[in-house]
This record gives sequence, structure tokens and C-alpha cells, in this order.
Amino acid sequence: MQESSKKEAKRIGFAMLGGLIIGLLIHQFGMGSYSEYVKPLGTIFIRLLKMVIVPLVFSSIYMSMLNLGTPEALGSMGRKAVAYYFCTTAIAVFFGLIFVNLIQPGVGAELGGAGLSGLSAEMANKVQGQQGLYQTVLGVLIDAIPSNPAAALANATVLQIIVFAIFMGIVALYNTEKSKAVSNVMASLEEMSLALTHAIMKFAPIGIFVLMIDVMAKSGFSAIVSLSKYIATVVIGLTCHAAFLLFVACTRAKKSPIFILKGLSAPLFTAFSTSSSAATLPITMTSVEENLGVNKATVKFVLPLGATINMDGTALYESVAAIFIAQAYGIDLTLAQQVIIFMTASLAAIGAAAIPGAGLITMSIVLGAVGLPLEGIGLILAVDRLLDMFRTTVNVFGDAVGTIVVDSLMKDDDR
Ligand code: ASP
Repeated sequence: MQESSKKEAKRIGFAMLGGLIIGLLIHQFGMGSYSEYVKPLGTIFIRLLKMVIVPLVFSSIYMSMLNLGTPEALGSMGRKAVAYYFCTTAIAVFFGLIFVNLIQPGVGAELGGAGLSGLSAEMANKVQGQQGLYQTVLGVLIDAIPSNPAAALANATVLQIIVFAIFMGIVALYNTEKSKAVSNVMASLEEMSLALTHAIMKFAPIGIFVLMIDVMAKSGFSAIVSLSKYIATVVIGLTCHAAFLLFVACTRAKKSPIFILKGLSAPLFTAFSTSSSAATLPITMTSVEENLGVNKATVKFVLPLGATINMDGTALYESVAAIFIAQAYGIDLTLAQQVIIFMTASLAAIGAAAIPGAGLITMSIVLGAVGLPLEGIGLILAVDRLLDMFRTTVNVFGDAVGTIVVDSLMKDDDR
């Protein structure tokens, strides 16, 4: 890890801690609304990160295709990545189910907060309008094909951009001469996007500091206390899964846990404070490539795909939340119903967007699949933003570890 990256990671860590303490103090003195004055700086930081997503993802995937050299290599990498996503997501849900059944956080919980009235009108519509699992997963697959690439780029629809870039990359592979001009532009666009990401990261300590102040200053501590068992269940589950991922990363990369965690500290802190794997993506890409030494082509392909469809933290969270709601309502779930929750939570996370609060929307799929009341969402709403920070961090960690695993499997193939 370069000296400058180490300093950057330290600054971000201090900023997060500082923001957390100051935010708590502001909340304690009843001045939560004052955080509004500094919040714009956090919003600017998130917008800057989002600004770089489209050029970075498009050029990276295109260049990754050229570096891989054949569509077969991409196919092989894609299969390994998807296998990794499925296995680790299932393991995450398994952790969630174990702890929620052991701790039973919902037993005896007050039903006073049930209902969708705490949601914004837009969010309530989304929760109620969420389609079933089959429709959602099929929808993700169909939607991945952009009928209008310009719209995909304009709307920053990452999965569609990935698919378009793959097709363009394949065409370029078979038409080297004709594609030369575009390939040169893409190579240069990629370099520029990476340079821009580095420049934006200089602003990260301020952005993260402010975002932490805002979240902490506004958090409802009464809800945290009354839902402490539920919060503990989610956090313990996420921690166990993160420890498992770390073990996998260390074994495959043959590196120490400190090396992996230090190398990923910038994206992990950013994920925690922004609650968005999409906004964190540019930082994840630069950190994994520069600090962990993973092959460039793997990073460029596996990370954007992972950020869109691989969400271990969200899947774990959805399974815990669904069973918590069942426990709170005194509904006894059969083993078969728990298996359905296991499957739907694993798959529903694929449909969740990589933005704050998205997991709450796809959770209605899990609830609907076993006939649990949608209004139960109201019970956990007050601490969703807080838990989003933890689950997004695990989502990003899972994506990063995915690049290490896929890269090592590709190297095994070459041997
Ligand atoms: N905020 C999460 C993410 O961006 C998605 C979720 O709400 O679970 O990864």
C-alpha cells in the first residue's frame, strides 16, 4: 500500500470518528437540526462520486474486455463471479437466520410502530408496488439489456452500462483496426476517470465527516434503545459474515487480515458514511487495484457487476428483519417458511439498488413470499438508516473480496 493511500485512509478514519462524536454531541444537546447547515458538503461529496461512476464504469468494462482478449475469458470470469455471489450471499443469509432464531429479538417487541405511515409517500408506493420475486429477478435480467444506451448512460443505470460496454468491447476485439479510435478514447477516458476519482478522494475526509455528523445528529436514540436486541442481531450477523469473508480473502490472497483491511479502509469508511455501494464504487475500484494488487481486468469487470447485484449485507438484513417481524406479530414460521425466506432474501438482494434504503423496498418481496404483514416494516423503520450503514459496508466488502477470489481462481486456471 502506498504511503499516500495510508495517509488518506487515516484521514478518512479520523474524519469518520470525529463526525460520529460531534454528531452525537449535537444530538445530545438537542441541536440536531443544526446539522442541516453542514449537510450540503456531504451531498456535494456524494454527487462528486456519482459524477465519476458513468465514465469510469463504461470505460473500465470496455478496457477490461480488451485486456481479457477473448469473450471466453470474460465468460469464465463472469461464471466465477456469479458463483461467488450466490455462495456468499447464501452464507450471509444463513448467518442471519441462525442469529435471529437464537437471539429472538422480536419476541415481546411492541407492535405500536407497525404500519407504513412512517415512510415517505414515494417510499410507501415503492414498497406496496414491489413485484414478486420471479417478476423482480426476471425484471433485472430483462432490464439489463439497454434498449437505448444513451438513456442508460444518462440515467446512470449501471447494469445496462455494463452490458453495453461488454458488447462494444467484444465488437472492438474482433474489429481491431476499425475500433482503434474508440479504444484510444476509452483508454484515455479510463485514465482520466481514475485521476478524477483520486482528486475527489481528497475531499473524502470532509464529506465523510459531515455525513457522519448529519446521521448521528438526527438519529433517534429512543428507537435504538427499544430495538437494541434487533440491532445487535443484525450487527452480530454482519460481523460474523465479514469475518468469514476476511478469512476467505486472506486465504485466497495469501495476505494478512491487516493488509486486506488497511487496503480497503477508504471504501469501507465511505460505504459506512454514504450507505451507497454505487457511490462508493469509484473508491472501491481504485483501492482494490492499487492497494491489494488484484489484476486490473478482474477489478474492472467484477466490481461494477458486484456493486449492482451482489449484496450480502442486504440479504442478511432482509432475512433477520422478516423473522423479527414474524416474531413480533407472534407468527410461528415453519421450517419450510424459513427455507422460503432463505431463498427469497438471497435473491431479493439482487433486485435491490445500490442506494440508501433500497433494501427496505425489496424486503416486501420476502415478507410477501411467506404471507407476513407489510405493515411490519414500520417496526424497523426507525433504525433502518443506521443499519443501512452496516449492511452497505458488508456489501462493499463482499464485492471487494469477490475480486480477490475471482482473480485467484482465474490464476489457478492459467496454471
Ligand atoms: N444501501 C445499500 C447499498 O447501497 C442497499 C440497501 O439498502 O441494503 O448497498
